Amino acid sequence: MDYSERMRLAFLVYLVGAVTSLPAETPFDFASTPGKLPKQLRPIDYAIWFKPDLKKLTFSGRETLEINVEQPAREIILNALDLTITNAEIDHKTVPKAAIKLDPKNELLTITLAQALTTGEHTLALKFIGKINQFGRGLFYAKYQEQGTGRRKMFLGTQFEATDARRLFPCWDEPAFRARFQLTAVVPENWMAVSNMPVASEKKVAGGREVEFQPTPSMSSYLNVFCAGEFDAIESEVDGVKLRITTTKGKAESARYALEATAQILHYYNEYFGVSYPLPKLDQLAIPGGFGGAMENWGGITYYETALLFDPANSSAATKQRVYEVIAHEVAHQWFGDLVTMAWWDNLWLNEGFASWMGTKCTARFNPQWEVWLEKSVPRDPARRIGIVKETAMEGDARATTHPIQQKVATEAEANSAFDDITYKKGQSFLRMLESFLGEETFRDGIRRYMQAHKYSNSTTSDLWNALSEASGKPVVEIAAGWTEQPGFPVVNVKREANGKVALSQERFTINFHDNTETTWKIPLTYSIDGQSAPATLLMSDKTATLEDVPSDRALKLNVEGAGNYRVAYDEASWKLLIASLPGMNVPDQVNLLSDAWAFVQGGRQPFSFYTGLVDRLPASTALAVRDQIVNVFDSINHLLAGTREQEQFRRYARGILRPTLDTLTFQPKPGEPMTASLLRASLIQEIGLLGDEEVIKMCRQNFESYLKDRSNIPADLWAPTFAIAMRYGDAATWQKLHDLGLKTTSTEEKQNYYDALAFTTDPKLIQESLAIALTDELPTSRAVFMVSRVARESDRPDLAWEFAKENLKALIAKVDALNANSYLPSLFTFFSDPARIEELRGFAQKNLSEPSRKPVEIASDEILFRADFRKRLIEQIQSSSRAESRDPAVKP
Ligand SMILES: [Zn+2]
Repeated sequence: MDYSERMRLAFLVYLVGAVTSLPAETPFDFASTPGKLPKQLRPIDYAIWFKPDLKKLTFSGRETLEINVEQPAREIILNALDLTITNAEIDHKTVPKAAIKLDPKNELLTITLAQALTTGEHTLALKFIGKINQFGRGLFYAKYQEQGTGRRKMFLGTQFEATDARRLFPCWDEPAFRARFQLTAVVPENWMAVSNMPVASEKKVAGGREVEFQPTPSMSSYLNVFCAGEFDAIESEVDGVKLRITTTKGKAESARYALEATAQILHYYNEYFGVSYPLPKLDQLAIPGGFGGAMENWGGITYYETALLFDPANSSAATKQRVYEVIAHEVAHQWFGDLVTMAWWDNLWLNEGFASWMGTKCTARFNPQWEVWLEKSVPRDPARRIGIVKETAMEGDARATTHPIQQKVATEAEANSAFDDITYKKGQSFLRMLESFLGEETFRDGIRRYMQAHKYSNSTTSDLWNALSEASGKPVVEIAAGWTEQPGFPVVNVKREANGKVALSQERFTINFHDNTETTWKIPLTYSIDGQSAPATLLMSDKTATLEDVPSDRALKLNVEGAGNYRVAYDEASWKLLIASLPGMNVPDQVNLLSDAWAFVQGGRQPFSFYTGLVDRLPASTALAVRDQIVNVFDSINHLLAGTREQEQFRRYARGILRPTLDTLTFQPKPGEPMTASLLRASLIQEIGLLGDEEVIKMCRQNFESYLKDRSNIPADLWAPTFAIAMRYGDAATWQKLHDLGLKTTSTEEKQNYYDALAFTTDPKLIQESLAIALTDELPTSRAVFMVSRVARESDRPDLAWEFAKENLKALIAKVDALNANSYLPSLFTFFSDPARIEELRGFAQKNLSEPSRKPVEIASDEILFRADFRKRLIEQIQSSSRAESRDPAVKP
């Protein structure tokens, strides 16, 4: 799954599990896989029929299951939630009502039998009724304005991961219970229906059309999908697989780019995995609401519209890149996740870390000009664009509240909470480090072995390491354990000694806490020595290591191109040589130094001047990743210093650093420039505008007026920053104009641009109006609720956002989807930097939030403490630099 909305918003929020490590894990074995459901009987085949009632927002359903009983059993225990069971039969005999028990708390359905079921196959038949909801769990509906007609329409969709298939039909809803699923649904006459497999037959029935789909291969329940509505579609074919993209009416042409990208991506994976895509077709659906990201349902991937549609005339370059990346991620899941599925949610990273890594690798291969790996190493401003991979994971992983990649998962809420930065991004980052250590081809051979051995089955992390060990002959299990089974990551300290020796030592890198444990990692180190051609590698297995024959006058750079998941702290002599070698250093290494330097400032190991000292010495360039790293750091400081006297002094400095790059790029796009230039321009204009540059503000205002006359006056890449800055320095009339545009457009991408901009107002009255949008149905429900966090962040008034959330708690929570349910409210506190808020949050949580919110509350509390402390340090450092400045004007904050 791609959890884009959280990815874009929860810049500093990490959902967390237990900090305790797990015992080393064993290969997949059905009987010992964790879970709630007893394993003595398991389903083989499901035939499911259901009929939605669009007026009452309910459905009625029935299902017939073939189950295999391995040990005699008196009880049949499976999952069901928010369903009423109206009838149950076992082997065609009706079960008395009293023998059917629903346990809503544990989401279980128990059928007690008069006699034990004998071993062998049996038939279970159930009838049930349930609800269609609007919060994107199970079977949901969403409303939208139709393109062209502007009419209000409705469609149905499903979202089952992690544990919501049980809301549509009773099932063994744990990933290890694979079975074949055959779906049949009744839909209105003029609707199109899509599921995992092709349509087998259709017929007219009372109240609409009954569509029967072919049965799926053996798979996990959470991978089922059903979507229906007034849709359009475009089609193509690759390697014998039918590709189709379905949109709401009038939008199919915007799927052209996605269709072409999918053909390229699917073909590449067929070759990479060594097992061809196993289904006859791959459907992808662009849906305008219901849930936020994208979901890899086997053969029927669902996407929130902006993650799949690209309109060459009206979409930004950032959208194009995001579309490619999300498709590459979701299609990778068709193998890693669907064909082979993690045995239990404690191994979710096998799905998500892998799909993130594979998707990025594939995107980089076919779009080298996008510099995607580099983009991943920059903590992108979430409100602005995509990305944020390695750095945000490392930032969260440096905190006391982090957890190992593999974490214990006992409940449904914990399964949903596992979808976090550590699972996705640290997972991806570790795989990249391992691939570069084992070699690209050896790594791929290991993956092919793994795929071949576990297809149509489940697996654990241990199965993956075994396959990679066999392919490489290297101790992958030993190397990997430290990275996946213990929390955090190391910093390698570099110290020059006599006779060309360099002493290395490792310790855990932390921010806002001290780690007293003696944790070590087996670090696949890479390093380069200035003037020597090829980088070298060293597996650092112990606390210390020594490099030999490093000339004392040559720069030494560890973590080549920043591909490793560790930081490097250099002694003064080494740092001086590195700084001197900056002009000849490649961009990835420059970005890596900047990221590490910033982390050391956050962690209190270095003053802010350490980071600015590096920034000042960088060669002038318009390299996107280098400048974006700085933009993001400056943006976070600008927010942190809101309301302080030091903010203006910082802004002056920051404008002075960023403005020359914008002047070199020029305000207007140049014909034939690379996409990275266009992305950087948008990024710089927005940030420099926020930092108060009069000229940029004036330009954005003029551009906005010009856009209102004819939007083709302004390039699409500049729309979002233009709106944001126009609103930041605008008035009620600006707010109204943006809001009107948002109400009118039927393009989800444009709508989001307009509403995002509304969050930038600083006028308390307008802030209230922006917040109130969260309660309306102007935006899809999954997006609407994030107006509150957006406003909290961009307006620098988290207090107003929190007051609003408190007053409207019930209405907001009703709109939040499964993945964000536990963290939504606590995350609003991550914009505060006053420690008094911690008590307030804890008190509030105690009274109003459920147990699974406890961890997000602790993470938010840690963030508040960190921000308070960091703010204090920054202010002191800026003050002392300004005292120095009055003596020597060249000294920067
Ligand atoms: Zn995913």
